[in-house]
Amino acid sequence: MAAELIDGKAIAQEVRAEVARDVAAWVEAGHPAPGLATVLVGDDPASAVYVGGKQKACAEVGIEGFDHRLDADADEAHVGGLLRELGDDPRVSGILLQLPTPPHLDGGALTELIDPSKDVDGLTPISAGLLAKNRPGLRPCTPAGVIELLRRHDVPLEGAEAVVVGRSDLVGKPVAQLLLAEHATVTICHSRTKDLAAVCRRADVLIAAVGRPGLVQGDWVKEGAVVIDVGINRTEHGLVGDVDFEPAAVRARLITPVPGGVGPMTIAMLLRNTLTAARARAGELA
Ligand code: NAP
Repeated sequence: MAAELIDGKAIAQEVRAEVARDVAAWVEAGHPAPGLATVLVGDDPASAVYVGGKQKACAEVGIEGFDHRLDADADEAHVGGLLRELGDDPRVSGILLQLPTPPHLDGGALTELIDPSKDVDGLTPISAGLLAKNRPGLRPCTPAGVIELLRRHDVPLEGAEAVVVGRSDLVGKPVAQLLLAEHATVTICHSRTKDLAAVCRRADVLIAAVGRPGLVQGDWVKEGAVVIDVGINRTEHGLVGDVDFEPAAVRARLITPVPGGVGPMTIAMLLRNTLTAARARAGELA
């Protein structure tokens, strides 16, 4: 393996330590602690683990946690009412509706009820619009985590050829927009892209956010490229990414492992967004 590993676990830990320091200074300056409200509908075990992780992370950095759990049969009015209440609650700086919601609820429509100034997941249309216009705002956590990994490794983005495989609202599209804001030349690929391999081979920075184990082959990676694998796929061999890691690592200069690459960054960026939201509400620009 020629590539250096990007240690997302260590970088996430650095970001969390910085947020803890900044929260302490914020409180020291006389402000109330930032607050993060999580809303989980139903008892999906994986979602419960994610929400638990987010609440625990809040406690570790001095962010106050508000952990709302609703029955699996809670209706739209009930969930919407809670989201509006949290929007009005001055102790709450950030609101997160854990997705996916149970099938009888429209998670996308409910997300739109979140006060945009508290949208720490960066998923409301207002946040998406601010990102599209490259204006200050709350950015989706996983894409922001990808940029943070690149930044901490001083990966030059200005003028670089960046290829993003995946165009979801959650990852592909926002990561492409963030790369564009960094002045990369960005190509977005998806399931209808012709000759995906050839497009990937052009990339100085290759981002895979697909959800298909090992889709990106080693020989799709240009010599010396930086490879960021957002994919998390559960297989009989355990958790694997969207990139065929070993052969890709032979050609890449820098590469993220799965697990331990992008994954840990999501919560770290959520914590940072919560502090940013608290500051913005107090009149400090993000
Ligand atoms: P998604 O909504 O399912 O989107 C997948 C994207 O991949 C779509 O744009 C799809 O194209 C494209 N695609 C599917 N098959 C393809 C193929 N054969 N060739 C080229 N493109 C193809 O998934 P997502 O939410 O963006 O998540 C992507 C991956 O990231 C998943 O493994 C997910 O678990 C992981 N993830 C990780 C984190 C984290 O690390 N914290 C957070 C979020 C997601 P079309 O648009 O044409 O269908």
